[in-house]
Amino acid sequence: MTDKKEALYYKKLKDKKNIIQCQLCPKFCVIKPGERGNCGVRENVDGKLYSLVYERPCSIGLDPIEKKPFYHFFPSQQALSIATPGCNLHCLYCQNWQISQSKPEETSSFSMQPKRVIEEATNREVKIISYTYTEPTIFYEYMLDIAKLAKQKGIKNTTVTNAFINPEPIAELCKYLDASNIDFKGSDSFYRKVSGGWRKPVEEAIKIMHKKGIWIELTNLIIPGYNDSEKEIKEIVDWIKENLNVDVPLHFSAFYPTYKMLDIKPTKPEIVIKARKIAMDAGLNYVYTGNINDKEGSTTFCPSCKKSVIVRENFLVFENKLIDGKCPYCGEKIAGVWK
Ligand code: SF4
Ligand SMILES: [Zn+2]
Repeated sequence: MTDKKEALYYKKLKDKKNIIQCQLCPKFCVIKPGERGNCGVRENVDGKLYSLVYERPCSIGLDPIEKKPFYHFFPSQQALSIATPGCNLHCLYCQNWQISQSKPEETSSFSMQPKRVIEEATNREVKIISYTYTEPTIFYEYMLDIAKLAKQKGIKNTTVTNAFINPEPIAELCKYLDASNIDFKGSDSFYRKVSGGWRKPVEEAIKIMHKKGIWIELTNLIIPGYNDSEKEIKEIVDWIKENLNVDVPLHFSAFYPTYKMLDIKPTKPEIVIKARKIAMDAGLNYVYTGNINDKEGSTTFCPSCKKSVIVRENFLVFENKLIDGKCPYCGEKIAGVWK
């Protein structure tokens, strides 16, 4: 067990004794000795930056890959899902705020070396690891070491992330990463008002992952009065069309009151269904709804002949008709990583 691991991506500030700057995420925290960065898990000890969560997960479990959500990446497979405490954003609606917004010492965690994580996956006959629940960026060193071992063993690495990370570390991670679901939250002002970050670096990180061939799916949580206007939905869709492509799956998800947004009402299902329609009408091929009961919005339709090819219910695949990744009716290739 290691209590602290020297962090990657930081530098000493010239002429400022033992004051350092973390360069992992766009916050570029300047950290004095004895202090921590904004994520609460990276600490300056005598002029060196340490990760306080290396080999200290607070949560590990098995989830269907559809729950992340990934709908076009090894359907029906289970993912060994792992998290440590901490996050570099502070969304007022965080569903996992008990662990994401806590300091490591306030969270019950346990010791688990990277090789033990791989053993756990192997023992459970799981072929996918997912870095998820909180924000994997802030447990970067731990994630990277697990991901390297996983790749050697033929196990796939996936992240569920806010993508608020700098270009160099995300490019390095991409050497080992297979798929990423990115929470693409809304406009720049939404990021600033609700999440404690800003949007530009997220766009850059998404583009890097896409360019490097990582399978990408995007999730947009729709919050009434915050990012539910037609204009904002269209803006997200246009950005995807302009910078990625129409085959990138987009998941619209309904908000439920939680954490610091208990006074906001849940998103009405019709709003989420309408957002999907707007995105499909604008030309995206695979758009889904989440957190509501909507069979159509959980189904993959062939973009060519429009017939259903994968039917899901409650994050489980009910029927998968694809043949070698193609539509069984017209032979159209369905974008994704199927086997
Ligand atoms: S990873 Fe943490 S310490 Fe580093 S810049 Fe981001 S918030 Fe600050
Ligand atoms: Zn078809």
